[in-house]
Parts: sequence; structure tokens; C-alpha cells
Amino acid sequence: MEPVIFELRKESDGLFSYDARISRDEASAGDYLDAINGFQERFVAPCDGCANCCWERVPLTAPDARRYAAELYGPAPDTGDRLSAAKPIGRFIAEYGQVYEQGDWIDIQLRRRPDGSCVFLDQAARRCRLHHLRPLVCQSYICLPSSRRAAALRQKLVNEGENELVWLWLLSLPEAAPAALASLYRGGAFEGKSAFSQVSLREAAGPGLWQKLRR
Ligand code: SF4
Repeated sequence: MEPVIFELRKESDGLFSYDARISRDEASAGDYLDAINGFQERFVAPCDGCANCCWERVPLTAPDARRYAAELYGPAPDTGDRLSAAKPIGRFIAEYGQVYEQGDWIDIQLRRRPDGSCVFLDQAARRCRLHHLRPLVCQSYICLPSSRRAAALRQKLVNEGENELVWLWLLSLPEAAPAALASLYRGGAFEGKSAFSQVSLREAAGPGLWQKLRR
């Protein structure tokens, strides 16, 4: 059995929705993305040429930004030093991201053009210019209603992954961020993880949601 399972459900009103459950304790965010992409290939009409969701907010996670930075600027040196890893991420955010700050609250998204479209959208072709790198939030966007636990897991992954990105972005700035601010964004399931396959779903979900997903 696959570690993460997405299932189509027919509701009492005859409409379809989807649900998610987890079959293994060691399931990762990489397994989640494999499963949700596989589900869409089987059950959802191809979105090739439909860019309706590419005018919405696209919050970024740390592995999303790492993948973009590696493709656009070349692989980061594998020094194990988080400051070195943060520099290309900071450059990517400066060139293609948008940072919103309000007090301690920081949100990092893909940049949108003045008309609201995503910076990576080819508007003439209505296609993502870097489709193979599209962020977690784009990969997990399904044009169907979802169960509460599936929606909650997606939200948790986006939030935890974005927290780690905010921490790396703070590290990349020329002036050190106040320790109290930096500490708000440290210590989540994505901390120190360079790829989705290294992120534990159990840790990202937290105990309450994990129990619901393992049922
Ligand atoms: S990254 Fe690609 S798929 Fe995601 S909103 Fe931008 S253009 Fe659309």
C-alpha cells in the first residue's frame, strides 16, 4: 500500500470530492506530493491550458524556493551551513518573490504582476513556464471539494514549509533579524530539510490531525 492515499468520494448529492489518508508512520511530504499528483492524473481533467488558479496567492515553502534557486542559479554548495543555503534563496525571493510584513507576521509568496497573474505564468499559452518546479500549493490544488482532514494537511504543510522559508529569508538578509522574531519561525517539521522527501508528515501534521489521517 502507498504511504499516502488520495481517494475520490461520491457525496450524497451525487457530486465528487476527495479525501486523504496515511498508511505508514514514515510517510513524507514527498510521498504526499507523489500521491496527489498521481490522483490528479487518474481522476482530474488535465489542467494544461487552464490557468484559472494562476491569479491567486501562491505561498512558498522552503523546498519550493530551493528547487527554483537550484534551477535558476545552479546547485547551492553542499556545505551543511544554513547561511550558505539561505543566500540563493534570498536572491530568488528578491527576484521572483513578494514578502509581506506586518509586525512579526511575515508571508512570502511568488510575485504577481500588476494584473494579478503569477510571475511564472505564460499568459499567451496559459501555461506555467516552470511547470516541473511548481510549488507545493500549486501541485496540491485540485478543482474538487476536499475532506476536512485533506484540507487541514495541505494547510499544515504550506504553513510549516513557509515558516522554514521565512527563517532562511531572515538569515539571508544583510542585517541579522531580532532573535525573538527569528525564533518564531524556527523549529518546525521543515527545519534543516532540503527536500520534501525529508519532511515527516507525522511531524508536520501534529498529533490531533495525524490521528485523523491514520484512521
Ligand atoms: S507557479 Fe505555475 S502553476 Fe503555480 S500559480 Fe504560478 S504559473 Fe500557475
